[in-house]
Amino acid sequence: MQISDIADKNAPYWWEHAAVKPLPQQALDQQIDVAIVGAGYAGLAAGLVLARAGRSVLALDAMNPGEGASSRNGGITSGNIRPAHDAIAKRFGEDTAAAIEAEGKVARDFLEDLISTEQLDCDYQKTGLFSGAVGFDQYDNMARRADKLAKNLGIESYAVPHGEQQQYVGSDFYRGGTVRMDIGGLHPARFHNELLRVAVEAGLGVHSNTPATAIQQEHDGFRVTTPRGNIKAQKVLVCTNGYTNGATPYLRRRLIPVRSRMIATEELPADVMARLMPKGMMMGEGLKMGYYYRPSPDGKRILLGGRDGSVKGDPAEPVAVLRNGLISRFAELENVRLSHTWFGNVAMNRDLLPRIFERDGILYATGFCGSGTVWAPWTGTRAAYKLLGNKELGNSAFDFRPPAAVPLYRGKPWFIPAVIQGYRLQDFITLRRARR
Ligand SMILES: Cc1cc2nc3c(=O)[nH]c(=O)nc-3n(C[C@H](O)[C@H](O)[C@H](O)COP(=O)(O)OP(=O)(O)OC[C@H]3O[C@@H](n4cnc5c(N)ncnc54)[C@H](O)[C@@H]3O)c2cc1C
Repeated sequence: MQISDIADKNAPYWWEHAAVKPLPQQALDQQIDVAIVGAGYAGLAAGLVLARAGRSVLALDAMNPGEGASSRNGGITSGNIRPAHDAIAKRFGEDTAAAIEAEGKVARDFLEDLISTEQLDCDYQKTGLFSGAVGFDQYDNMARRADKLAKNLGIESYAVPHGEQQQYVGSDFYRGGTVRMDIGGLHPARFHNELLRVAVEAGLGVHSNTPATAIQQEHDGFRVTTPRGNIKAQKVLVCTNGYTNGATPYLRRRLIPVRSRMIATEELPADVMARLMPKGMMMGEGLKMGYYYRPSPDGKRILLGGRDGSVKGDPAEPVAVLRNGLISRFAELENVRLSHTWFGNVAMNRDLLPRIFERDGILYATGFCGSGTVWAPWTGTRAAYKLLGNKELGNSAFDFRPPAAVPLYRGKPWFIPAVIQGYRLQDFITLRRARR
């Protein structure tokens, strides 16, 4: 099967409205205060703060700015943390677990505030997120968690029993679910474009197609090598997440790039959209390899994403998996045509927690584990304040020891297809048990 048999375009739907493109090439400054590597959400958010604080600052990007995950994602402002509270508490202590949970709320508020204060035109809507339970036991657990979230953090969150689920999703796939109203959706490429606009206006120099190929510490700062010349920077911040490469070998051993893929349906009739996604919420589900999906900002299509499972090769097979996922949730879409499919890299680390950390004088803000729409601008901003020496605003629960290196890993994630197959098998068993 060819990709063109399944989808019209092998490119992000989002790029129809906000293309990623190279910026006019400017001369590279030779001597600056801060060099940022990576011009996605994290790098730009950091650059905005630093430029406004009067620092001379550049963001280098190996591709066009935004061409990494920041213009390709689902735009769901979840600020999700993968490990459960108890697992974090066991590993890092109760205080860290509580601080991380609380920071999610602050970071989501921060994003909303950033969008409104800077007037970023990015289709942001706080729609709420419905998480579907795949079995009744899972529903009970999720309902308890929703209750805790409301009590402990004052977040509007509640359980939706199976009998009421059709008000939220026109599917019988779930056995009830939960809603949290502090999450919404934005247009990721527009958000990136707008962040780029305000950062450049503030004085951030952004250089597309300018990879940092090496970063060396010298007696009075750092030398950043690029094919367009060298830069001398007092400080360096690395924000390369799922696109990390050999320029930062220490980070590369700690982050595993994983392909995340999305599909977009052709435009659907208004009555179908109203039946399948009655409240226009963002959607998630309680499976290891579960899908996330949402209506497009104009409410005319469904965009669905999940792990791709491949590291190279023809995209037709992973697209077919996603399409089957869509149809198993919404049988009436059996004959629907896909208009777009695309993938980008997310970055996983061993403990599945985002991080700000310093090593050999270089600061890193990365490791968003598939949920960087909230975490990347947030940690980028905290990292910038840390570089400015602002202890209060530079403070973050994610600022602690670096994630551990991944054994036997030097940059080629050969084991990903096997891991994904393992997770799919676990999900298969979970579903079988839940539906018995
Ligand atoms: C398909 C998909 C769906 C997703 N859906 C969601 C979602 O719904 N909600 C959510 O919260 N998150 C989602 N994510 C994750 C989210 O997009 C990312 O976590 C976030 O965009 C990371 O931003 P970033 O700035 O850290 O990195 P990126 O945007 O990935 O930018 C990193 C940049 O670093 C550059 N770079 C790398 N190495 C070098 C170098 N040596 N020199 C110069 N530049 C370099 C790259 O070119 C790249 O542009 C999704 C991701 C994907 C791929």
